[in-house]
Amino acid sequence: MIKGISASQGIAIAKAYRLEEINLNVTKRHVEDIEKEIIILEEAINKSVADLTILRDQTLKKLGKDKADIFDAHLLVIKDPEFMSQVIDKVRSEKVNADYALKEVRDMFVLMFEAMDNEYMRERSADIKDATNRILAKILKVKTNDLSLINEAVIIVANDLTPSDTAQMSKTYVKGFATNIGGRTSHSAIMARSLEIPAIVGTKTILEAVKDGEIIILDAVDGNIIVNPTDKEITAYQEKKQAYEAEKAELKLLIDQPTVTKDGVNIDIAANIGSPKDLNSVLEYGAEGIGLFRTEFLYMDKDDFPTEIEQFEAYKSVLEGMKGKPVVIRTLDIGGDKELPYLKLPKEMNPFLGYRAIRLCLDRKDIFKTQLRALLRASIYGNLRIMFPMIATIDEFVEAKIFLNQVKKELKQEAVAVSDTIQVGMMVEIPSAALLADNFAKIVDFFSIGTNDLIQYTFAADRMNQHVSYLYQPYNPSLLRLIKMVIDAAHKENKWVGMCGEMAGDEIAAPLLLGLGLDEFSMSATSILGVRKLMSQLSKKEMESLVNEALNKNNVTEVVELVKRRLG
Ligand code: PEP
Ligand code: MG
Repeated sequence: MIKGISASQGIAIAKAYRLEEINLNVTKRHVEDIEKEIIILEEAINKSVADLTILRDQTLKKLGKDKADIFDAHLLVIKDPEFMSQVIDKVRSEKVNADYALKEVRDMFVLMFEAMDNEYMRERSADIKDATNRILAKILKVKTNDLSLINEAVIIVANDLTPSDTAQMSKTYVKGFATNIGGRTSHSAIMARSLEIPAIVGTKTILEAVKDGEIIILDAVDGNIIVNPTDKEITAYQEKKQAYEAEKAELKLLIDQPTVTKDGVNIDIAANIGSPKDLNSVLEYGAEGIGLFRTEFLYMDKDDFPTEIEQFEAYKSVLEGMKGKPVVIRTLDIGGDKELPYLKLPKEMNPFLGYRAIRLCLDRKDIFKTQLRALLRASIYGNLRIMFPMIATIDEFVEAKIFLNQVKKELKQEAVAVSDTIQVGMMVEIPSAALLADNFAKIVDFFSIGTNDLIQYTFAADRMNQHVSYLYQPYNPSLLRLIKMVIDAAHKENKWVGMCGEMAGDEIAAPLLLGLGLDEFSMSATSILGVRKLMSQLSKKEMESLVNEALNKNNVTEVVELVKRRLG
């Protein structure tokens, strides 16, 4: 049995589909049978054209024209007569193998395109590389990673997955995934929860332990994977899967219910989203608002900055979809494990401590302004709350707020309607902000505690590094004390406090957070009903006394024992 971190709950039993790192090693060979070599090349080209056509059509249906255009660009390269005739000429004149000739001609074209003045032409070199890699992979008989071409039930096994890999997965065929690296709060894990695909991350060894096509059981309730299970194990897990799904169905009865504790206190449970597409599950699970819209995915899904209009449409659709319920939209939080290739930032030694989020936006006001304009224009379509990420100092918040007001003034001068009731708040995810929460509370409308980062910065443990994942300690009294400081400081100024880190949806943490007085719990939509049910079984008064005890414990074990003992 292989253990890992359960990143998205559920149970799946299916064949493993290994996502290999592609290795395209080409060596020069002398060939006598030139015609045979040309046939090999032509067959590889035909297969690539067929793959790309399917990919383009599927992408068009699922993700729209913008994304589908990428595959059209690849088709153009492959079908370019000038390019391919040079490859064939090389095979004939130099009597070399097709893959070598293709690579040589490719490298020459890439160099030529990269040297061009025109940026658009320079960028085409990436298309040439991608398209020719596909043909090379066919010649060398190396499997390429086209997740959207999968057409049977599988569990993806990989070293790691990028958020865009995860976004390409079709729920019809991809029954789950398991990775060697990553933690509960890595962004592929977060995407898995919003797609509701069972996932286990940080297994360290799953890729080495499984062959392509072997059956595996992915128990992403308890974080266990069984490779080549016995019939008995398969039956046992099929039963467990049924029981899990029955419980899920029972929870669905709570969808239209408010969240109220046993002693009658109302709590807000909101959802975290990454794109307007997530709205369906937000409504399906009966969220009382959106506590975090991670706008960076709007930027990561494209090969260039989204325009003001594109962003406006996205924000407007979410605000309208929520029909007046509060929607907290966070401004761009790029950096850390969320990269934006077209921003072309230099590689950093410590990306999580680097040039990211509000730091970057305050420096690149052009990028920031486009987003703020889009947000403000959308504000009249619902109940918008704007939130700045990664605030470390009072000066950063003040500068961001002044800039927001300036952009608002400009829009009004252009006679654009903007709401006058937008709340402006900040993420508390850096210890310096938590420690100065009393001063921040005077100038913000609300706080949202980002425990994913607050924990990594408090315990000095990279949230992507599985070797230090034991330091992801949401129940540690040190963290509980920091959270208490933030909540108490906000309440003193009559401001509300939410939490949008993964801790808010954790069933051991939720009783403690209720006791600390947290006003809004924002989580993956799929966790909402479980927490709603739990809240109905808890008394806020009792949780206050529970958390007072927890705050004085020494470590996580003592806190977990206490919670389990008190909740029976
Ligand atoms: C957090 O840090 O807790 C948070 C919600 O933001 P993200 O996970 O996007 O960094
Ligand atoms: Mg964060």
